[in-house]
Amino acid sequence: MVAYLDNAATTPMRPEAVEAMLPFLTEDFGNPSGSHPSARRARRAVDEAREAMAQVCGCEPGEIVFTSGGTEADNHAVFGIVERRGGSVVCSAVEHHAVLEPVEALGGRVVPVDEHGVIDLDALAAALDDSVTLVSVMLANNEVGTIQPLSEIAEIVRRRAPDAAFHSDAVQALTWLDVAGLCSPVDLLSLSAHKFGGPKGVGLLMVRSGVEPAPRLLGGGQERERRSGTHNVAGIVAMSVAAQSALRERTEVVRRVGRLRDRLADGLRLVPDAIETGVPLRDGVPDRSGKITGNCHFCFPGIEAEALLFLLEESGIHASAASACTSGAQDPSHVLAAMGVPRRAAKGSLRLSLGRETTDVDVELALEAVPAAVERLRMFR
Ligand code: PLP
Repeated sequence: MVAYLDNAATTPMRPEAVEAMLPFLTEDFGNPSGSHPSARRARRAVDEAREAMAQVCGCEPGEIVFTSGGTEADNHAVFGIVERRGGSVVCSAVEHHAVLEPVEALGGRVVPVDEHGVIDLDALAAALDDSVTLVSVMLANNEVGTIQPLSEIAEIVRRRAPDAAFHSDAVQALTWLDVAGLCSPVDLLSLSAHKFGGPKGVGLLMVRSGVEPAPRLLGGGQERERRSGTHNVAGIVAMSVAAQSALRERTEVVRRVGRLRDRLADGLRLVPDAIETGVPLRDGVPDRSGKITGNCHFCFPGIEAEALLFLLEESGIHASAASACTSGAQDPSHVLAAMGVPRRAAKGSLRLSLGRETTDVDVELALEAVPAAVERLRMFR
């Protein structure tokens, strides 16, 4: 019996997405850049997927640039804008490494967040001036699930750095949030198919017309010279099918999984000293409205995340600590550090991320296994 509770890392593929990709791996294997009938069939499929993804993102089809995933899209946005426009870059302290490392490599500024992981808007305003050409703030965080107020951020960017492009990494958001609506004020947007039931190794960067980051990959001139390389036709088609299914089912999935997540989180709050990350109490009741529905994140002070994951794996729970393991030592995550979580608590972090296939049985298994594992580890402290 396995409870897969690591949907923020990756999701199982939707059967309809698997089915949609198969013809492009078999009979319709043509290269969409060619001119004969099988090439034209492949090109038509990519064009249709582009139209579908444009609807998902709330943009024009010509504003979609297909990539190899979220990492490439994020790198393209940050490095591409600076190569084109010069200037400096700014991002939040809780960005995924695919944004944070490019920003740090360019000597950019990193804006602090509050204890729940929400960007400090005053600090953002103070970090912006006419020299800034790119601001990157994610829609939803991959570790603690915090949703950022993109329209308020966009308003500050327009006011303080009017020439800056605004990028958002929405890789974690599509299953849970109205990405087209919430991202309407952004100029650049990253998505990755494997986070919403599509295959790994395919994603996109939405680039509003006139924004034009410099290409990162030069070669055959695909994607209107914006991203060279033969299209991953099967992956692109499957991504569009998965995204459309995710959109169609979103309301129902959020309602159903929301109940499961709350049951899980309410149960884990009973573990002694447990800290539910990114969740304020309002009138004594945990308010989880500021994070995506699939996220359930806790810190259990006094234990090591690695040991907890080992025990959970023995009980059939597949989860994550969402912290980087560097040079053999467990380094508490930059996200928790930015939120001011004390190191002792951050070392005992646990991310249980639910998905559309999560069931009551998965939650029951976790509610049995996690408290028992934490107690056992604390006995041997
Ligand atoms: N951005 C966020 C917020 C993510 O969670 C991830 C994946 O974990 C990425 C970017 C990278 O996406 P990909 O795995 O498609 O490279």
